[in-house]
Amino acid sequence: MWPWGHAALGYLLYTVYLRLRAQGTPTGWPVVALGFGTQVPDLVDKPLAWYLSVLPYGRTLAHSLFVAIPVVLLVGWVARRRKRPVVGVAFGLGYLSHLLGDSLHALLTQQWGDLFFLVWPLTTPPDAETVGLIAHLRDIDGSPFFLFGLLLTVAMLVLWNHHGRPGLAELWSVVPGQRRV
Ligand SMILES: [Zn+2]
Repeated sequence: MWPWGHAALGYLLYTVYLRLRAQGTPTGWPVVALGFGTQVPDLVDKPLAWYLSVLPYGRTLAHSLFVAIPVVLLVGWVARRRKRPVVGVAFGLGYLSHLLGDSLHALLTQQWGDLFFLVWPLTTPPDAETVGLIAHLRDIDGSPFFLFGLLLTVAMLVLWNHHGRPGLAELWSVVPGQRRV
């Protein structure tokens, strides 16, 4: 799943989560934390595997539940200590939604071996991988799964706009030279 698909899936799941808990709609900093959480696994694993050759595959260390669960719990604990538990929850939900997004294709096609990353390093990654961002961009093929990611993104943008674009002002406030809105 592409970055925009991960962000969209995270936002939609977070919206459902808030609705189920009768906590209203997504707001400022939790949405920023959510968005960051949805990207963390790829921000860690892709550079370490593709460009630094530290990891054997682009879905390993930060995509593993052995790392994801402790990180989510730790961030949640720190956020609670700082009296911002909702930020920790949003980050955790974003992070775990990334793993769900990367698992969707394997779940739908029942290619269980593609879920190896969830329990890495107990499993061995595939030998072949498309390496590098440019190569991945060249590989965009308009497949149903790619189109599904785009559809999710459009749905998320409509909903996010309807919610008053939470998180935008917060992001803007940390741009150098800008004042908090
Ligand atoms: Zn990923």
